[in-house]
Amino acid sequence: MINNPDTGAIKLNQAPGVVNYHFETFNLLAITDGNVEYDSSCFAPDIHQTKLKQIRENHHILSPHFMLTHNILVIISADRIVMIDAGNGHKARPGAGKLVSNLHAAGIKPDDLTDIVLSHAHPDHFNGLMSDSGQLVFPNAKIHMHQKEFDFWQDDDADFSKSKNSRASLQSLQQEVKFFFSQISGKLQLFHTDEPLFDFLQPILTPGHTPGHCMFTITSGNEKFVHMADIFHDEIVLFAKPEWGTIFDIDFDLAVRTRQRILEKFALSKQRVFGYHLPWPGFGYIEKHNEGFTWVTE
Ligand SMILES: [Zn+2]
Repeated sequence: MINNPDTGAIKLNQAPGVVNYHFETFNLLAITDGNVEYDSSCFAPDIHQTKLKQIRENHHILSPHFMLTHNILVIISADRIVMIDAGNGHKARPGAGKLVSNLHAAGIKPDDLTDIVLSHAHPDHFNGLMSDSGQLVFPNAKIHMHQKEFDFWQDDDADFSKSKNSRASLQSLQQEVKFFFSQISGKLQLFHTDEPLFDFLQPILTPGHTPGHCMFTITSGNEKFVHMADIFHDEIVLFAKPEWGTIFDIDFDLAVRTRQRILEKFALSKQRVFGYHLPWPGFGYIEKHNEGFTWVTE
């Protein structure tokens, strides 16, 4: 039982699609928004598809499609309920859009949320914030995002020249992002620095995937882990071949360098980490081997 001054006592339930973790100073839930299939052409855009197929077959994955998870964290502290990213919402493709029903199953109502932190402004992270009638799904929550992310998408001269995606796709994406920003303008709070947002949550600007993409250090007493957001979109290819990248990266080469830096750093420190698109429920470690890096699911 958690005593929350704003929302009253919240009784957390065990449910499929929800994993409860107890920390010294808060409870944490991993909640799935479900899985979405992506075409393999979204990955390793400059690499021959047979090489991509081979590396996946070496790990016993025979499907030509990538199945992306959407792992959402909810932190329940004494005075706040903070959610990191918001899933695919009503625009979800089959298999996703399960966040709200899983929150209910866990014992949390959308009204209970006080804060939502967006790692970056891609639709698989923000579409869950708006209903199909254009209402806020979490009406009491402030929405936090890095200033650099906001500025990039708002800019009519946004630089898409460093992405491997088509210009038409990126321009249509930008229109979608701008419309979303207009819908949440009354709730949006932009952060600028690496100062903590809350005493347990500190953003780390990690540009490349998008210009204002952030990871988050989450701390409770002597425990901590790092939410890596979208540094990785699968658990095999981008660990073995971080330089192969994805078409989702706005600055492809910078995303590669950021990914390589994170791999080296967290393999060395053996840091417990979490990924939005890594195997459910998202926690694990990075290991370095002679032939490259591997993801180790916790
Ligand atoms: Zn994503």
